[in-house]
Amino acid sequence: MQCDVLTLFPASIQAVTSQSIVKRAQEKGLLHLKIHNIRDYADGPHFNADDTPYGGGEGMVMKAEPIFRAIDVLRKDHQDLRIILPSPQGISFTQGHAQALSNESRRLVFICGHYEGIDERVRSTLFAEEISVGDYVLTGGELPAMVMIDAAVRLIPGVLGDPLSAQHDSFMDSLLDYPHYTRPNKVRGAAVPEILSSGNHEAIRLWRRKEALRNTLVKRPDLLNQQTLSEKDQLLLDEILHEQSHATSS
Ligand code: SAM
Repeated sequence: MQCDVLTLFPASIQAVTSQSIVKRAQEKGLLHLKIHNIRDYADGPHFNADDTPYGGGEGMVMKAEPIFRAIDVLRKDHQDLRIILPSPQGISFTQGHAQALSNESRRLVFICGHYEGIDERVRSTLFAEEISVGDYVLTGGELPAMVMIDAAVRLIPGVLGDPLSAQHDSFMDSLLDYPHYTRPNKVRGAAVPEILSSGNHEAIRLWRRKEALRNTLVKRPDLLNQQTLSEKDQLLLDEILHEQSHATSS
């Protein structure tokens, strides 16, 4: 995955990319990430990358020209760019988007906004995609850009130590993940479900599938309404519903 992040605050991107999985992905050559300071493309002597808004009002707006210049420089070496503007006004980022980004052959360019946002002409001229990480407003686009990069990078084959570990993650097949336990067997009186120590792999697989369905039913029933379950999953769900009605009636 090839990524460029355009930002006024390079240190905040560096702080996240120099740790954990994203760092390891770069060391393995599976993520090529470059951070560009938008101020480097602004005019001297003050290198201002923002200015007051037309029409008056509060706050500052990020100027278009420094961003256009940064993109022009990128385009000299890479014709095919996919430009993403993290924005609360964008489409909501999902695991599906993360998967698509992890397979993206184009170079991904994230333009991080700040202040009141970026001059509208950047979006319209570059045909940039606006993507939101949720219905709330953050101070800048750096965290959203890192959220998207992190979610995508861990899906690139070879990034996670165990290639199967992302397979059962929540949202990978429209269900939430099953519950996880580790040693010791008993913590403050609460024991690990016996089946997990049984050594019976098929029984454990079935238990995990059923608990993934239960988690989804309890925490995110909307996900179940959006899909047609396989016959086996439907049987497991019927069992769960039966157990639930039994528990409430007794
Ligand atoms: N005035 C803008 C609005 O209300 O739509 C919000 C600007 S916000 C303070 C500054 C920058 O943070 C945005 O340009 C965007 O890059 C980023 N940002 C804030 N919230 C975000 C979200 N939920 N998803 C993605 N990016 C976000």
